Amino acid sequence: VLAPVITIDGPSGSGKGTVCRLLAEKLGWHLLDSGAIYRVLAIAAVHHDFEPSDEDSLVALATDLDVEFVANEETGLTHTILEGEDITMTIRTEEVGMNASKIAALPRVREALLRRQRAFRELPGLVADGRDMGTVVFPDAQAKIFLTASAEERARRRFLQLQEKGFDANMSTLVDEIKDRDHRDTNRSVAPLKPAEDSLFIDSTEISIEDVVAKVLQFAHTKL
Ligand code: C5P
Repeated sequence: VLAPVITIDGPSGSGKGTVCRLLAEKLGWHLLDSGAIYRVLAIAAVHHDFEPSDEDSLVALATDLDVEFVANEETGLTHTILEGEDITMTIRTEEVGMNASKIAALPRVREALLRRQRAFRELPGLVADGRDMGTVVFPDAQAKIFLTASAEERARRRFLQLQEKGFDANMSTLVDEIKDRDHRDTNRSVAPLKPAEDSLFIDSTEISIEDVVAKVLQFAHTKL
């Protein structure tokens, strides 16, 4: 049997990451953070000195990407190991996000990452976090959500997140970066960020993460 999937797509800072983690915990399901894969690839590209325009090299890199996601029971963190190096700290920076977004616009790179992402679909189920989870990667998902929030609120959340991790951040720069990345992700020709036709639209600007999780669970129960 094919495992059931709940997809949550949306722009950065919409709360997707936290919502997906909490959902996966509550349901006891697997979690796919697809953005992390694009971020890892972006870091690997820098390691190998590949330009974001060098699609052939990036496709080869994506196909053989030597990455592991290792859950650390003690810290509760998922550590990301790329080519033997722990990149858990750098992976979340906005610079890496921006590089990921450039690479993510390349059609053949996205194609090369499809199988890796679909392999996360295992019983008892999968919660998938990204931009094209409901539209491209898991079009037959049982429950699809599109989660968003105002750019200012998303920048504020990113700001707090970065601060918590010990990174310097500037609010107005963050708002600009977020708008820039949204623009690229929304306007690319392949797998652009957009709600799947059959998705539930949630604006989290004025509601708490807990309330979003409750809404998603309620919706998912009607679909599963
Ligand atoms: O979600 P996150 O901010 O980690 O994603 C980083 C970048 O990776 C996004 O800005 C987007 O360009 C790309 N991405 C994507 N498709 C996904 C997940 C992420 O294109 N499913």
